[in-house]
Amino acid sequence: MSRPISAAIDLSALRHNHRVVRHTVGTSKIWSVLKANAYGHGVEACAQALAGVTDGVALLNIEEAITLRRAGFVLPLLLVEGFFAESELTLISEYSLTPVLHRLDQVESVVRAGLPMSVYLKINTGMNRLGIAPAACQPALAQLRSARHVQGITLMTHFALADEADADSIGLQLERFAACTAGAGLPVSLANSAAIFRHPQTHQDWVRPGIALYGCSPVPQIASAEDLGLRPVMTLQSEIISAYAISAGEAVGYGATFRAAHSMRVGVVACGYADGYPRHAGTGTPVLVGGVRTRTLGRVSMDMLAVDLTDMPQANVGSPVVLWGEGLSADEVAAHAGTISYELLTGLAARVPKRVHEGG
Ligand SMILES: *Cc1c(COP(=O)(O)O)cnc(C)c1O
Repeated sequence: MSRPISAAIDLSALRHNHRVVRHTVGTSKIWSVLKANAYGHGVEACAQALAGVTDGVALLNIEEAITLRRAGFVLPLLLVEGFFAESELTLISEYSLTPVLHRLDQVESVVRAGLPMSVYLKINTGMNRLGIAPAACQPALAQLRSARHVQGITLMTHFALADEADADSIGLQLERFAACTAGAGLPVSLANSAAIFRHPQTHQDWVRPGIALYGCSPVPQIASAEDLGLRPVMTLQSEIISAYAISAGEAVGYGATFRAAHSMRVGVVACGYADGYPRHAGTGTPVLVGGVRTRTLGRVSMDMLAVDLTDMPQANVGSPVVLWGEGLSADEVAAHAGTISYELLTGLAARVPKRVHEGG
């Protein structure tokens, strides 16, 4: 038998979450964001599961996009970080991919190349990551519109503060976007998961949900995934591989950061930071053993972590453990590690086998 850790990937939960987004955005079209290997869930399985229900798939790599096309995927494919070298434009055109143009020289490259394609024009409205300056928007649009091989132009921006409690956190960015695109009469794409749930006025023509599709909350301080009606797609599971009693005063793990105040029972789980479990999750991080909630003890090791089995006499070697997923949100575990669910999901290690299923 192999090491008992695996990540169960529930494709029916993925489609359920897509339905929740669909219901929330009404008639807006949906780019399912499957970058970073579908946030660690496996891009091909997720693309297939969404093929009949979504409107397009957003990715980073041209390689991933071409793989999907060759597998017979016919929906629009958006390259959210655009192209990295002008030489990619031939393949972009050949495989009908839609690049995001975020620099003026990329606009010029597309115009010069003369290859048929649709494009997204990204405007930096205040995130100050990717995008052209608002003042450059109208001239760039004029260039793109004069190029007859440019088949479709969509305007986009990305919010820095969509997940803030303050209802007007995106106000400035929206104002700048409206000012520089006024009168363009082109389709618009603004919203990530947080904006989809918090700012209905951003839904517009195309939305770009990522994390919500995987069943985590984009706004965990404001609403849990459950509150939003989302179901976890990935469940990271393993088993207890050793269980024993320790007496008061004994320490657990590297650095002896946890010391027992009284006698207790400890279980060792086959899951560590080399599996993608966050090393920064300290004593007290929630974990399910046999479906019952308990806590981790001491430092996470490379291949193992310890859990508290005191008062859990039914738990023993072979008991199933859920690190996050069904019954325990990755949002909660992430909060204990000082990070966000995105980092846990995308950080799942390649050595953890994925078991794709249709749920129930
Ligand atoms: C990753 C990404 C998204 C998805 O963000 P979530 O917060 O996961 O919904 C949307 N738009 C762009 C441009 C992205 O890079």
